[in-house]
Amino acid sequence: MLIFVAMLLSKNRIDYVLAHLGQHWLSNKGVEEAFVFVASNRPSPEGLKAKIVFPLSLEDQPGPQTICFEGEELLVLYPLSSDSDPFELDAQGTLWFRHDFLSSAFYLLSGMQEVQAKPQDAFGRFSYQQSIQKAYNFVNKPLVNYYFELILKGFMVYCERHGLSFQRQRLFEHFGFLLSHDVDRVAFHHPRLMAYRVLQLLGLKPSNVGKTVLLQHLRAGLRHQLSFGAVSDPWWNFSWMTALEKKLGLRSTFFFLSREEGQRNAWYRFNSRKIKNLITDLNTDGFEVSLHGTFRSVDDPDRLLKQKQALAKVSGLEPLGIRQHFLLFKHPTTFRVQETAGLAYDSTLSFHDHDGFRNAYCYPFHPYDFENDRAFTIWEFPLVMMEVSVLQYRGLGLDDLADAANRHIDEALRFGGLFGLLWHNCRLNDLEYPGVQLFYEQLLERIVAKSPQSITGSALLHCLDTF
Ligand SMILES: [Zn+2]
Repeated sequence: MLIFVAMLLSKNRIDYVLAHLGQHWLSNKGVEEAFVFVASNRPSPEGLKAKIVFPLSLEDQPGPQTICFEGEELLVLYPLSSDSDPFELDAQGTLWFRHDFLSSAFYLLSGMQEVQAKPQDAFGRFSYQQSIQKAYNFVNKPLVNYYFELILKGFMVYCERHGLSFQRQRLFEHFGFLLSHDVDRVAFHHPRLMAYRVLQLLGLKPSNVGKTVLLQHLRAGLRHQLSFGAVSDPWWNFSWMTALEKKLGLRSTFFFLSREEGQRNAWYRFNSRKIKNLITDLNTDGFEVSLHGTFRSVDDPDRLLKQKQALAKVSGLEPLGIRQHFLLFKHPTTFRVQETAGLAYDSTLSFHDHDGFRNAYCYPFHPYDFENDRAFTIWEFPLVMMEVSVLQYRGLGLDDLADAANRHIDEALRFGGLFGLLWHNCRLNDLEYPGVQLFYEQLLERIVAKSPQSITGSALLHCLDTF
């Protein structure tokens, strides 16, 4: 491997991108030994025979340009010529890439845009609104997978010319379906919520539903309280959820949230009898129990470790994964905190305010530790879609959500990648969202009809060990 000069990309960063490219082909020494990396301000090396040349941009920031490849338009973040052809094989058998696909992939995969950005959201979250995905309209397209596809097509041409073997691989035969549930709230008829509804009814608190609906909720709450729990609570719907998944051959991951100062985190306790029994049942039935990190766990390793230990004590199994509550996240701090707590994967990253590919990649990946110029060891399993992003932040309806899910699944199918879906147990209540239960049931049925491999986070870790 020859390195002339690299600007945006250090040697470690190049290795980082190539390691992820390695998820898509069986790497071959004959190809790898031909790599040459050349800074774009250097004269093109002459007399190269049978090499593969990656030009590297000198720019810090992307300057996107659309190219056309095999009839499809593709946005390249670090273009280097007006040439639309992504690569060319010359008479000496050297393959020349025409744009800097390595920097383009690194910028998105590493999370560089959010490390450089100032969070604008009230909770300090990096949002879709400030992302390059919004600026260039590609949140639905896992661009990094497309860059890798294009690089591998170049390798294929090179291998044909030089009589080398070339073999692709994909993570899933069709796609992986990573269904999960954040257990934020478990009691719709919680006394605190009932009291709040009384205040709403009296006009003392804002409400986005009318008085008739508030009265219905209060009457249902009274029936629940007076029956001492014999009349079920619509947010304690776990047996309905798990029965549906079992019927469809699915297994999902449930992320449990700790209590913390203030009211934004859990109102239940891990060691209450009901939660203990629920966790035992989930573990017995092959669902995964993992951790939903509180607001303050985002940058507090001691706090996160305590939450993990408390859940492990109740579950009897070490939680392997985490999703941060509110999708609140500080890159790279939160990854470091999670890694320090001994967690093996995170699955927080889609945008809270838009579904789609936050790192433009539909495969598991290692985020980048910019302070130490290396990959983190923790895995990121991209979330892709939280129902709240579509229904609340984007203000769309259930049919729009189904269409968006189909688009994301089509991308996962194309690359043998992942479709991650988060649906909260507290958003499956027909009293609040009429028709949502039937919709959710049909949505899962339609996804299953596309022949995914249903996989929990912990099962995916196991799968990656042998991939
Ligand atoms: Zn949450």
